[in-house]
Amino acid sequence: MTIKTVAQVCAAHGLEAPGLVTARIGGASLPASAEAETMQVLYPATEEPVTRVQEAGPAEVDAAVAAARASFESGVWSQMPVSRRQAVMRQVTHQVATHRDELAVLESLCAGLPCNHLVDRQVPRAAENFSFFADYIGHLAGETFEQMDGYLTAVTREPAGVAALLAPWNAPLALASMQIASCIAFGNSCVVKPSEHTPWSVLRLVELMEEAGVPAGVINVVNGRGPVTGQALVAHPGIDRIAFTGGTATARGIMAAAAPNLTPVHFELGGKSANIVFDDADLEAALDGSLVNIFSNSGQICIAGSRILVQRRIAEPFIERFVARTAQLRIGDPSERATEIGPLAFAGHRDRVLEYFRLARDEGAEILAGGGAAEGFERGYFVQPTVARVADNRLRVCQEEVFGPFATIQVFDDVEQAIAIANDSAYGLVAYAWTGRLALAMELQQRIRAGTLWINTPLARDLRAPFGGFKDSGIGRDGPRQCADFYTEEKASIVPRGPVTIRKMGMEP
Ligand code: NDP
Repeated sequence: MTIKTVAQVCAAHGLEAPGLVTARIGGASLPASAEAETMQVLYPATEEPVTRVQEAGPAEVDAAVAAARASFESGVWSQMPVSRRQAVMRQVTHQVATHRDELAVLESLCAGLPCNHLVDRQVPRAAENFSFFADYIGHLAGETFEQMDGYLTAVTREPAGVAALLAPWNAPLALASMQIASCIAFGNSCVVKPSEHTPWSVLRLVELMEEAGVPAGVINVVNGRGPVTGQALVAHPGIDRIAFTGGTATARGIMAAAAPNLTPVHFELGGKSANIVFDDADLEAALDGSLVNIFSNSGQICIAGSRILVQRRIAEPFIERFVARTAQLRIGDPSERATEIGPLAFAGHRDRVLEYFRLARDEGAEILAGGGAAEGFERGYFVQPTVARVADNRLRVCQEEVFGPFATIQVFDDVEQAIAIANDSAYGLVAYAWTGRLALAMELQQRIRAGTLWINTPLARDLRAPFGGFKDSGIGRDGPRQCADFYTEEKASIVPRGPVTIRKMGMEP
């Protein structure tokens, strides 16, 4: 299959790839340094170089935290009147929307995601994140208490300070923009660390934000490997909050690094979510939705419906149609509008996903579709969308997050068994259920141990609602009130409503 080269994609959009991506501190990009480590970013579809990343070490991380602290203490953003902060954030939305196609291409060149998905969904979502939080802070109210006789107690909020925001490679703009918008809306400053695999779109977002009026130093960017740059950032004593989206094992290390400083953490982690199809469901909708739930973003998405559970009476026709549609998914050039499945994000991740295909066979799963590298591609990290029929939810392929286009299918007999299998997981991020029975939907709502349950719909996110996971899927929630709690400190001020009789100490007896 012919795939457009990096030069062709850039030329089609009038772009020039930066030779080197460096840290952005206090509104300025660091110059190239001969001593710094650099990493190559490759286009996942062709394995051609896109750009190089200059790694920020402890000294650069220190400088970024200092710049964030200086901006915070100056009050240029933290004390800005809310109406002005709202206006700047709305301008960011406008900037992102105006640069939608450019941002989509930059992201696609690093992450390999199909441009159409980025243009239609993820970049608009990134834009909306800023206007949503701009609206929210305009309505944020404190509390007052009047029950204590003679006193009025007022509760107000102050920004927490400087946050470290660590964004992953699977949906860099959509996820980093949620972290940045929810953090700065409340007056905080931050240091962002994108993944070393996907540095470009987030850096461009930050430049656009500065152009929109976010003062220099409010958002700083450090690039580099997680265990080097990320580790230096999360262990830094100048950090007041850490928000991390990524893997559960990495999160454990971050929590340990944060412990000496008692830095509060907000974790959005992985999932192994059940997608349950009951025999009274609208099967056409269930089929369409189940395909979207596992194959969007090539399965590299924390909310993937990767464990499909289907009730016995409809199992065979459902599985047959699901497998047939899987085999027809259009794998290919991320820059082509018709493409449904792009390459995986980087070589190491591709190898990891292929390893899970092998494991499925070793564990006795029946491979119904795919099962290996995609054919017809000389280069690039393409794998086949894969479906494996399994009989035991304790298999590793049913317990571990593959983070690729890989669905297991299990057949169940009744509601009790479906709920037991769905909850038999260390994760608890989301679940999907397809049923025509309202009573069953309400029962699932009470008994499924996950942060979000979608009934008769694929993923549809209401930004007003909390989003996050039970169990190993996270700590805390995204959501306006929840982010207000995480990114602000509450302060109680107690004021007497009249003269106070104060006990006189130290008087002569
Ligand atoms: P990681 O958790 O290692 O990477 C996620 C992010 O964390 C990356 O930006 C990475 O940076 C950064 N990171 C890595 N180590 C550290 C560290 N010590 N301190 C601070 N930041 C760090 O995920 P992997 O890339 O290894 O993927 C493995 C699994 O993680 C996936 O299969 C999936 O289960 C899960 N995952 C979940 C995501 C989600 O959206 N919930 C997103 C990404 C992964 P860098 O890439 O530069 O090393």
